[in-house]
Amino acid sequence: MGSKHKKPHVLCVPAPAQGHINPMLKLAKILHSKGFHITFVNTEFNHQRLVRSQDSDVLRGLPSFCFETIPDGLPIPENLDASQQVAALCKAIDENFLGPFRSLLTKLMSGSDSPVTYVVADVIMGFTLEAAKEMDIPEMLFWTSGAGSLLCYEQYPNLLDKGLMPITDSSFLVNGYLDTIYDCIPSMSAIRLKDIPPYIRITNAGDEYMVEFLCRQVERMKTASTIVLNTYDELESDIMDTVSSIFPPSYGIGPLNLLEKEIVHGSLASIKSNLWKEDTECLKWLDSKAPMSVIYVNFGSIAVMTPQQQVEFCWGLVKSGYSFLWIIRPDLVVGESTMLPPDLLAETKSKGLLASWCPQEQVLKHRSIGGYLTHSGWNSTIESISSGVPMICWPFCGDQQTNCWLCCNKWGVAMEIDNDVKSDEVAKVVIELMNGEKGKEMRKNAIDWKNKAEEACAFPYGSSMVNMDKLIHMLQTSTK
Ligand code: UDP
Repeated sequence: MGSKHKKPHVLCVPAPAQGHINPMLKLAKILHSKGFHITFVNTEFNHQRLVRSQDSDVLRGLPSFCFETIPDGLPIPENLDASQQVAALCKAIDENFLGPFRSLLTKLMSGSDSPVTYVVADVIMGFTLEAAKEMDIPEMLFWTSGAGSLLCYEQYPNLLDKGLMPITDSSFLVNGYLDTIYDCIPSMSAIRLKDIPPYIRITNAGDEYMVEFLCRQVERMKTASTIVLNTYDELESDIMDTVSSIFPPSYGIGPLNLLEKEIVHGSLASIKSNLWKEDTECLKWLDSKAPMSVIYVNFGSIAVMTPQQQVEFCWGLVKSGYSFLWIIRPDLVVGESTMLPPDLLAETKSKGLLASWCPQEQVLKHRSIGGYLTHSGWNSTIESISSGVPMICWPFCGDQQTNCWLCCNKWGVAMEIDNDVKSDEVAKVVIELMNGEKGKEMRKNAIDWKNKAEEACAFPYGSSMVNMDKLIHMLQTSTK
């Protein structure tokens, strides 16, 4: 009684990684702008990093937008600048998170004058369904990637049943086996085995566990009431149709970077989700460059490379003759320092700018950016598409191979670069991207997709705007 005048209270639970926190925070800010009370749950480790990377007052200062933390149960890393290892994190989610989450939920429910009315959790945090059910709180799940990768993960059991994966004989890796067409996903008929998220090849430590973990989360998704995805209907229309035929009602509410700009204003907009401190100097450097003259290079928060690969990329960029902005995370290069050999460093300085974590969305929207050499993480992909920037893809892990396939084959906005990177090839694709016929075609396609993304997020009848309204209605009417 009386609670109908209170704000509905949504508990947002992202998976504890940069590429998951970003879209969840955007969704949380949108919901807050629409009148919801928000509690955003980080791991203690990530929250410490979030506070460090920005003015912490911003994180404290807003009424009815609160942060809570739970421990991840992992040994405390000495270095706040290093990404946590994916398989170890997933194992920790499996083993350590439910207890602290249950306690948090109990605290927020009992004695509170604003009890939680809905849980919105990342699919990876499927354990939250159990706790929410125990307390009779409705929940919806957020697949923060695109619909294409979801359908690929959904195929994991089939790939195993058919004996197509894992590849037990390593000779398959070189004899073209991975080029085999996998014709079992209606809306992705020409996809090859190499484009399926590669955990299922079981070539790295932790892959076996990841396959089992992901199969479980995707199965659990089928029991959720609603699924939301950071995509837009026009981009993945046929794929979304297939998703809808397999999963509970599913809604594209992206690109969230655009929808956030439409809806979120004022001090709320200044809450950022960076786990690294942002270096904004690169924007000034970009200001000094001609329109579409710079190639932007960034491999996201998790991908790592060998020192040799770093050197090949760097020589390739230098040889291309184009200016480049390369974001080198402190832990981008395995086992070694990220310092380049002195001769290469000197060459680099004349043509490029090496920087640490940057405001990527602003960079991609900068007029001087002509192309993006990317690892094909989903957020980066959708941010690039919604900025009209064509890409060169060097997919590393997880959904990245599938995103790369979609960009190259379905949307015509990218070219792939061989995993075994060589400087001459890097130079060749950069030149093609920046000024070749194929590059021009890709830029035209990217601008078409950007226009469609803007239409999807336009008020009041864009597809993602309408889907967001439906979502808000669901979240409001659950209020008891
Ligand atoms: N990002 C950023 N600055 C950087 C690098 C990345 O703001 O220097 C953001 C980027 O905009 C994206 C996210 O970090 O939203 C990375 O997510 P993505 O899914 O692309 O890749 P992941 O890091 O999960 O591999």
